[in-house]
Amino acid sequence: MNLDDYESSLQIFEEDELIKLAQKLVSIPSYHGLPNQEKELAEFIDKLLKENNIDSYCVEVLDGRPNVIGSYGNGINEDKSLILNGHLDTVSVENMSIDPFQGYIKDGKIYGRGAVDMKGAIAAMVMAILLIKRANIKLDGIVHFTGVIDEEYWNYGTKHVVENGPKAKYAIVGEPTNLEIHNGHRGLEWVEISVKGKYAHGGTPEKGINAIAKMNKIITEIQNNLLPEISQRVHPIIGPALLNLGLIKGGTQPSTVAGDCTLQIDRRWLPSESSILIIDELKEIISKLSKEDPDLKAEVYLMRDESNKIGFPPLVCNQSSTIFKTLEDANMRVLKKCEVSTFPAWTDGGILNHAGGIETIVYGPGQLSSAHSEEEFCPIDDIINACKVYLYTILDICQ
Ligand SMILES: [Zn+2]
Repeated sequence: MNLDDYESSLQIFEEDELIKLAQKLVSIPSYHGLPNQEKELAEFIDKLLKENNIDSYCVEVLDGRPNVIGSYGNGINEDKSLILNGHLDTVSVENMSIDPFQGYIKDGKIYGRGAVDMKGAIAAMVMAILLIKRANIKLDGIVHFTGVIDEEYWNYGTKHVVENGPKAKYAIVGEPTNLEIHNGHRGLEWVEISVKGKYAHGGTPEKGINAIAKMNKIITEIQNNLLPEISQRVHPIIGPALLNLGLIKGGTQPSTVAGDCTLQIDRRWLPSESSILIIDELKEIISKLSKEDPDLKAEVYLMRDESNKIGFPPLVCNQSSTIFKTLEDANMRVLKKCEVSTFPAWTDGGILNHAGGIETIVYGPGQLSSAHSEEEFCPIDDIINACKVYLYTILDICQ
């Protein structure tokens, strides 16, 4: 890359403008429950990009809820294409102990809903693109900012990007990683097992079939045989597959034989696994137990809408990947250090990587522990440094 271009972009960088932008984004509500939840924010970013002569458009994904897509570069070389992905939505503002939308600054941090998850990152991404445009730097490749809806719920925004474009070879998802490179996370699937028994009076249990007792057999089999096998599956980057028994419900009251019981499972899966495998393994347990006990009748299914084909796949990015190496260089230049880890939660990066075939890293300002919290905040220095890292990465990948 041309380091002079990086330096000349930095020379016109006004940190104050970036901080004000982050505050402005926090001040525009985009939480679940609002009509047209993310629309005002998408339109604000669209207008800002257009005012700076950057191609931009809003595209409706769900009723009244658009993604915003901004692009800069001539795109001659498809290998030099990069997506900077940020979700526009936030979680609800209920239970916040501070003003969610003021975006006030205290002790070097911006406070408010979305400050760290992830409007600070969005401000840094947009500003990095503005700086390159203002410095009049030409790109053979292309950088796209994709401001997406619905990340906190069903991820329709990034699914729309993967299915309808823009396309790119590389991507960064700006979730809060404390400016560490996070090059993977497990996939996520919620599964429900439903046992059908037969209700009867507790005084005549022989007339009923106790669904709780039958579910107990299934749980015992999961604990004794499936869990040990799953924990043997270990990916070199993202670690072992996981299974959590998260919720159980059954019966109506103590003196009635429980006629039904449901169990909900959180399954964190590896690229070597799949949703089909996850279901099949549980079906196998049920079929084995039903043979031993014909009264045991159970069904197992994914807890997602059938129209949601992509689901929540894992993300893995090798350290030999160009995007990884570029972010490593960028971190060394900006922060003089580089930490590598994996992301503890699921992100839109799983969709970009697994379904979109895009080499993807999660990298953003602030800490995940502050996301969704009563006093959400993002350190200003992190936002500034993230902007510099994104700037370097765009120039290195797209020039
Ligand atoms: Zn987030």
